[in-house]
Amino acid sequence: MEERLLGGVVGRRPGPTLLCVAGIHGNEPAGVIAVRRVLDALENRRADVHGRFVALAGNIAALQQGRRFIDRDLNRAWTSGRILQLRAQGTAGGTVEDCEQFELLHEIERVLDAADGPVYALDLHTTSGPGGVFSAFTDSLPHRDFAEAFPVPMIFGLEELVDGTLLNLLSEHGIVAVTVETGQHDEPAAVDRAVAAIWIALVKAGVLPESLVPEAEKGRALLARDVSHLPRALEMRQKRDLADGDGFVMAPGYTNFDPVVAGEVVAHDNRGAVVAAEAGRLLMPLYQEQGEDGFFLVREFSPFWMRASAVIRQTGLSHLVWLLPGVRRVEGSADEVIIDKRIARFFARQLFHLLGFRQIEDAGDRLVMRRRRFDERRYLERPPQPEPIEPDAPHRA
Ligand SMILES: [Zn+2]
Repeated sequence: MEERLLGGVVGRRPGPTLLCVAGIHGNEPAGVIAVRRVLDALENRRADVHGRFVALAGNIAALQQGRRFIDRDLNRAWTSGRILQLRAQGTAGGTVEDCEQFELLHEIERVLDAADGPVYALDLHTTSGPGGVFSAFTDSLPHRDFAEAFPVPMIFGLEELVDGTLLNLLSEHGIVAVTVETGQHDEPAAVDRAVAAIWIALVKAGVLPESLVPEAEKGRALLARDVSHLPRALEMRQKRDLADGDGFVMAPGYTNFDPVVAGEVVAHDNRGAVVAAEAGRLLMPLYQEQGEDGFFLVREFSPFWMRASAVIRQTGLSHLVWLLPGVRRVEGSADEVIIDKRIARFFARQLFHLLGFRQIEDAGDRLVMRRRRFDERRYLERPPQPEPIEPDAPHRA
């Protein structure tokens, strides 16, 4: 029987918290095994811990059966509506994942309540296809800074295409969170990479000093070696959604980050061939029965733009975007803009991504984008404080 609380260390001195969530998908046990290894190795360093390290198991029922989920994907329902429902009705719909989510939310809230400093979160996953080693995060300055500590390809914009992830919920409530995918579900190397990621996170969060964690530097070398042939930064370009009975089957043999050309047949469904919309690299091709996404397409972009965007945001110039042609502010909101695509279509989406905005709506000539929370220089110097997970807080739409 798996316990929700996998373990943890409470330091004698106050400080940051690192929350590690492993196995929110039940067929991804690597993170759980990795947590145990790190906890064992931490035994004789407990006295040196600042703040705390807490590790939680995600979907216990699904972990026991080795399935992604039992009734529904536990990593797609961390939305305001669902949380209100959980609060109002306890386990709400009564499915297995309603219970799992209720318990996990409760444990996360205990961690947030107990925190007496910033809270960092590491969300560990693996993929069904080989080669899936990368990070994903909501792109505001402190979150990106945390993600940069892991020397793996950084995927920008996943959160715009996948709703209701735990990562998004935590990030919007002042928790500095990153998702790290550490390889294929059952390969032993996925555990080693997850172990590496936890050590790196402990040091980056400030729970333990680098000098006491030789595993962090070894972990960086391990991760970097496995992805040395891959770009550092890629942006999300396409997602193939699955619907019940659409007959989607991935073409065999694809690996994460395999280059594809525009129009390449990468899968089939009931209507025939499914093609890549543009040239890029394939991400998370679906080679398992359960899942809602067939594949993603990502495209490399220059680390120059990554750095440029951080510099521009730190200057605060990104607060003047409404001076651009075809851009106006949403009434009553300092952080939302409506973009007239007829005027600004050549620069709109990508420019606003660089400036730290995420897409809210794309309809006709209208593109609505919102500045991510905590995307300010001061949060680089001092990370945000966690906020209670209140779905109807005023900052939320
Ligand atoms: Zn997963």
